[in-house]
Amino acid sequence: MNIDKSIIFSPCILTPSTSLNEAINLMTKAKGSSCQVSYSDHRIPTSKNVSQTSSCILIVENKKLVGILTERDLVKLTIQGKILQNTVISELMTTPVISLPYEEFSDLYIAYNLMRRHRIRHLPILDIHNYPIGLVTLSSLRQTLSPRYFLRFREIDEVMTRNVIWDVPSTSVMEIAKKMVFNKVSCVLLVEDKSDILIPLGIITEKDIIQFQSLELNLKELTAEQVMSCPLFCLKPENNLLQVYQKMEESRIRRLVITGEKEELLGIITETDLANMIDPIEMSGLLEILQHRVNQLEDEKAFLLEKQGLELHQALEENQFELYYQPQFNLRKKNVFGAEALIRWNSPEKGRIPPTEFIPLAEKIGLIIPLGQWILETACKQIKDWQKEGLPNLEIAINISSKQFHQPNLAEEILNILNKYEIEPQCLKLELTESLLVQNIDMTLEQFKILKKAKIEISIDDFGTGYASLGYLQHFDFNTLKIDRSFVKDIHKNLKNAAITSAIIRMAKQLGFQVVAEGVETQEESDFLYAHGCELIQGYLISRPLSARDFSKFITALSEKIK
Ligand code: C2E
Ligand code: CA
Ligand code: CA
Repeated sequence: MNIDKSIIFSPCILTPSTSLNEAINLMTKAKGSSCQVSYSDHRIPTSKNVSQTSSCILIVENKKLVGILTERDLVKLTIQGKILQNTVISELMTTPVISLPYEEFSDLYIAYNLMRRHRIRHLPILDIHNYPIGLVTLSSLRQTLSPRYFLRFREIDEVMTRNVIWDVPSTSVMEIAKKMVFNKVSCVLLVEDKSDILIPLGIITEKDIIQFQSLELNLKELTAEQVMSCPLFCLKPENNLLQVYQKMEESRIRRLVITGEKEELLGIITETDLANMIDPIEMSGLLEILQHRVNQLEDEKAFLLEKQGLELHQALEENQFELYYQPQFNLRKKNVFGAEALIRWNSPEKGRIPPTEFIPLAEKIGLIIPLGQWILETACKQIKDWQKEGLPNLEIAINISSKQFHQPNLAEEILNILNKYEIEPQCLKLELTESLLVQNIDMTLEQFKILKKAKIEISIDDFGTGYASLGYLQHFDFNTLKIDRSFVKDIHKNLKNAAITSAIIRMAKQLGFQVVAEGVETQEESDFLYAHGCELIQGYLISRPLSARDFSKFITALSEKIK
């Protein structure tokens, strides 16, 4: 059984022939621990902090539960005018008792539903011999179900009881007790009757009545005014139920009075009203549905990832990837000095898929390593082919993902490919994002050293979008900074972008880095960059990324134009 045992209390147990005096003593003074009770040997572990006085007593005869005595029963006694000493429990106890066998107590909601259906505050838990081994109370349930979350958005107005049982303070306590029993309520409010409105002054509860009785006070002679609890704990109808909950917790009370603008009585809200707000069936049903949906989504996601993973593997095997090249332009020399290689996936089923959609997955499933190799190899072969075609020497920038970069043999592998195609390391440039530089710093620094030794250049991509400052970046030996396109956008109009970009350009120059501006789309952006000292640009203004064939046509056409 998987239930929170903290809601099960050790019950106070007496026999039917015990005098009522003793029962009242127990209910008014005794703490759970000092109950003069016998427990069964196979008692279940129950809550240790039984700090509240016992609001009910279970009546046991021949080791079986035969009745229950609650505060309400004792209030009844008061108005019957019986003498306590001469009355025994069996004359007053409620029987039969609504109870729950321990084996059926599989979750809290079963207990909660029983209590709600039968409008009871106490639910004895029985062993197989019908002996009460524990007690669940509405208060303990309410605390366990901690309704904080769903009470927040509900207003008092929705749930408070408007039909409040009230009287004036000059009434005798006996009359008040009668009113309680007659109306089946656990408290009566004392008010000042101002004909059109009622001003609440105090409250008398079942518990008070029992207490006065145990002190052997004459309830007919006592007036409500002499014994009522005041001041009252009040809230406004627009307060939410969470506030009610918190106030009850902090003041250790079970009911709050709701007053209007003129402090007039509007209603009352009790612990039971709060507990009734939690529809356990709804809640457990909802949770189940949600959990089911989450599981379903996770299954779907795992399935999709696996499927896409398989597709990616297949795409590599079947040569569905292609490298595109976006020209990089020198504004001063008016020539293309290089290109960035950008991968494309031509899926026979889904068409052209952008890298932002599959590179993260390739990283996740480790495919980025063989894919990265393919990119390097393809780019190097292309460089060689263009050289053979007689195109001018170009620097080709290749994007390297984090996993790829942290491979220990990356430099070696690159050098092998360069050797294979007989090209100079200066033809290649690696683009790394800033975020890569802030993880695994020792390994990154080591890799930089090896690449530097192999004369392979490094660019910092998307500069400005990560965590790294230029000061931090100085620790790494790189050659080029690529200003992210978000800073380039509308740079001639956007003051913030203008300030950031011109600062980056200035600092980079001081530190001896090259600067390339990415995503240049308009002539105005280009002019601004050039005027502020950045002469290398890449973007749609020059050209979109092109297939290898289109790229070579583009270069040829451009050089003819310049001639
Ligand atoms: P990135 O490295 O920042 O690449 C630049 C992206 O900006 C490219 O998108 C390019 O097409 C786009 N772009 C270029 N000029 C402009 C412009 O003027 N305006 C606008 N709005 N966009 C422009 P693409 O090709 O979709 O690549 C997206 C990202 O995918 C790349 O961002 C890069 O992080 C990654 N990626 C692309 N190819 C590879 C690759 O071969 N290997 C790895 N590891 N990542 C790659
Ligand atoms: Ca890039
Ligand atoms: Ca970029």
